[in-house]
Amino acid sequence: MSTPPRRTQVGIIGAGPAGLFLAHLLHRQGIKSVILETRTREEVEGTIRAGVLEQWTVDLMQDLGLGERMRREGHFHRGITLRFAGESHHLDFEDLTGGKRVTVYPQHEVLKDLVAARLADGGELHFGVRDVGLHDLTTDRPRLTYTTRDGEPQVLHCDFIAGVDGSQGLSRQSIEGRTEYGHLYPFGWLGILVEAPPSHHELIYARHERGFALLSTRSPEIQRLYIQCGPTDDVAEYPDERIWSELHRRLETVDGWTLTEGRIFQKGVIGMRSFVCDRMQHGRLFIAGDAAHIVPPTGAKGLNLAVADAVYLSRGLDCFYRTGRQDGLDRYTETCLRRIWKAERFSWYMTTLLHTNPAESPFEHRIRLADLDYVVHSRAAATALAENYVGLPLD
Ligand SMILES: Cc1cc2nc3c(=O)[nH]c(=O)nc-3n(C[C@H](O)[C@H](O)[C@H](O)COP(=O)(O)OP(=O)(O)OC[C@H]3O[C@@H](n4cnc5c(N)ncnc54)[C@H](O)[C@@H]3O)c2cc1C
Repeated sequence: MSTPPRRTQVGIIGAGPAGLFLAHLLHRQGIKSVILETRTREEVEGTIRAGVLEQWTVDLMQDLGLGERMRREGHFHRGITLRFAGESHHLDFEDLTGGKRVTVYPQHEVLKDLVAARLADGGELHFGVRDVGLHDLTTDRPRLTYTTRDGEPQVLHCDFIAGVDGSQGLSRQSIEGRTEYGHLYPFGWLGILVEAPPSHHELIYARHERGFALLSTRSPEIQRLYIQCGPTDDVAEYPDERIWSELHRRLETVDGWTLTEGRIFQKGVIGMRSFVCDRMQHGRLFIAGDAAHIVPPTGAKGLNLAVADAVYLSRGLDCFYRTGRQDGLDRYTETCLRRIWKAERFSWYMTTLLHTNPAESPFEHRIRLADLDYVVHSRAAATALAENYVGLPLD
């Protein structure tokens, strides 16, 4: 026998950054929500993904009272290094943007903090659910059906549904009349996690004729490094010696900078694509985050963009519950897309600037080098890169 239907104001599908930030923002506004998540808590808190938080994301975490551990354990970077032709060029974001920085604090640590605070607040968060279904989206009483971790079928009546179930989720399929824009890049990233001390205190982005390389740090003991590879390459093609050899060659400098090696304890290949769904609302369903857009990781925008959507959606819902006005919700797609396309542009720019493309002509290759030379020698060009990297203002 199934349990009687339950009710909430906002049903949230997915406990990634978009879903958890949305739930916290709504909680602060006195709006009730229920989060449904297919994965277990251990899986959600153990998946290593993004690591760079824009300044306003950090400010939002502090504002929501979620920033205590981040303040203690995060790494605050005042800039990045661009490396090409064997030379390093530091871009000082703090100087270029009037004091803004980026914070390296891994996504799974952010999620741990958000999950713990949600449960401490007494908020509903159901892990391990199955068979989530969306119904009656164009009525003012949409429903979610699902099966709990214990096999109980459930019905959840909502005022609104937030589809924040990532790029492979089902919510986007319910957005009628949408157009999807996509771009596939002819390369991917081989990422490794290494037990070693940092080789540098900030991120290094390198363009080399053998391909892109990125050096970043996760903690004083763990480093995250990437090399450009083929989009469908198998990690088995990359024994440790090959990876270190590529990293040394791509990151080496004329002044003899050295890369510290260590034990590689995780390897993975990710493909790179850009994607935008041009409609983010259907009736009372709103989609946000990776469910609506994907960026290649070169600009470090994916997580931050997901949180920005959550902020815009929470504002529209807050306005609706306080005043009964729908105009904020009606403008949700338009408001989000203005930011999304700018982040798409920046992520595409950083990706094409820093990667070698097998299909690129010698002419295009020289143009990329001229672009890099311009960025590191023009304060105006460096400022444009810096203000995008630290995060454009929310409004
Ligand atoms: C391998 C990898 C590396 C990345 N590296 C970077 C990086 O370096 N920098 C950066 O900025 N971004 C990076 N990203 C992107 C960043 O992690 C995402 O943009 C961010 O996680 C988006 O958050 P989200 O909440 O929209 O979606 P997600 O984090 O994908 O969360 C969606 C959640 O919904 C759940 N779900 C799915 N279907 C259902 C369902 N039917 N019912 C209930 N729950 C469901 C999923 O289990 C998941 O927990 C990376 C992504 C990947 C995959």
